[in-house]
Amino acid sequence: MEELKTTVEIPDTGQLQSIYSMQFDALQDWLKEQGEPTFRATQIFEWLYQKRVTEFEQMSNLSKDLRGKLSKSFVLTTLKIVTRQVSSDGTVKFLFELHDGYSIETVVMRHDYGNSVCVTTQVGCRLGCTFCASTLGGLKRNLEAGEIVAQVLESQRAMDEVQERVSSVVVMGIGEPFDNYEELVPFLKTVNHDKGLNIGARHITVSTSGVVPKIYKFADEKMQINFAISLHAPTTEIRSKLMPVNRAWPLPKLMESIRYYIEKTGRRVTFEYGLFGGVNDQEEHAEQLADLIKDLKCHVNLIPVNYVLERDYVRTPRDQIFAFEEVLKNRNINVTIRREQGHDIDAACGQLRAKERKEETR
Ligand code: SAH
Repeated sequence: MEELKTTVEIPDTGQLQSIYSMQFDALQDWLKEQGEPTFRATQIFEWLYQKRVTEFEQMSNLSKDLRGKLSKSFVLTTLKIVTRQVSSDGTVKFLFELHDGYSIETVVMRHDYGNSVCVTTQVGCRLGCTFCASTLGGLKRNLEAGEIVAQVLESQRAMDEVQERVSSVVVMGIGEPFDNYEELVPFLKTVNHDKGLNIGARHITVSTSGVVPKIYKFADEKMQINFAISLHAPTTEIRSKLMPVNRAWPLPKLMESIRYYIEKTGRRVTFEYGLFGGVNDQEEHAEQLADLIKDLKCHVNLIPVNYVLERDYVRTPRDQIFAFEEVLKNRNINVTIRREQGHDIDAACGQLRAKERKEETR
């Protein structure tokens, strides 16, 4: 797990940088270098994020010369839709193909309070959580910020068809966002920027499995973004069995970083706690969990385990889920049980890509 401290390079495929990877300020700087006025950045952002064009040529209020410069310097990343499944509850699941042939998935969930998009940050994952489908083939590569932005744009295009807006973003798809931190941050900034997708920070959630050094860094960014930690265990022994990342950064170190985050940002964190039958789902575990987090500004989201073909975890019976919840409630811990969506379309955690990957030749 030591090697996690190094970054994974995005292999150079001769591909130009995605225009969607450019933050507003960086675009202004680039324009200055080209001898262009900086207000062009506003115009370009409008074309990209409000009008959502697919060619630089369509940016009709820019000079032909500037359009030419843009297309020589950047690509307008497009994600090829391989499949688009719609569940009976309205959940839309995309399998996209990237320019180098890898596939990723993105899910749009329809709620009564709005539509949320769950984005992927890496092709695969190297964290090796023992219950997760996303990690089965290891990590292929990091996504570029623009490839993450493009997932939200493509989801918005789907919502355009029903005259609705993507109102929130959750970074809970395939991959470990904090293992691709350098691309994650520009993505978050563009999604949040008022001239970008303009999604409020409080409507954006990032989830990590516990890459501790990046939790400190994230706290220092002071973005008002919702933060979730995949805790899944009340003791370091159990956590190590479920999540190898716990061997690199054991539970006490993780909790220290979370305390720092809460202190620094003043924000409440969410602990995701997957219930894995017989492993971490007994009432004694709920008591241990309560002891661990009792004085923290937090919320617990209990997740009934999703069955993954290659993994042999079993679901916790309903009554036991409620008993677990009850223990936490009695200890005055904020707790909810995750509602499941898209059951009929493999919408959970890398399952669609896992099927596709079997046919991948690379
Ligand atoms: N790597 C990040 C982002 C993924 S979020 C993280 O670990 O937080 C996806 C959430 O679904 C995580 O909490 C993950 O632990 C959980 N998950 C993965 N596989 C699951 C499964 N089979 N059943 C229930 N939850 C699962």
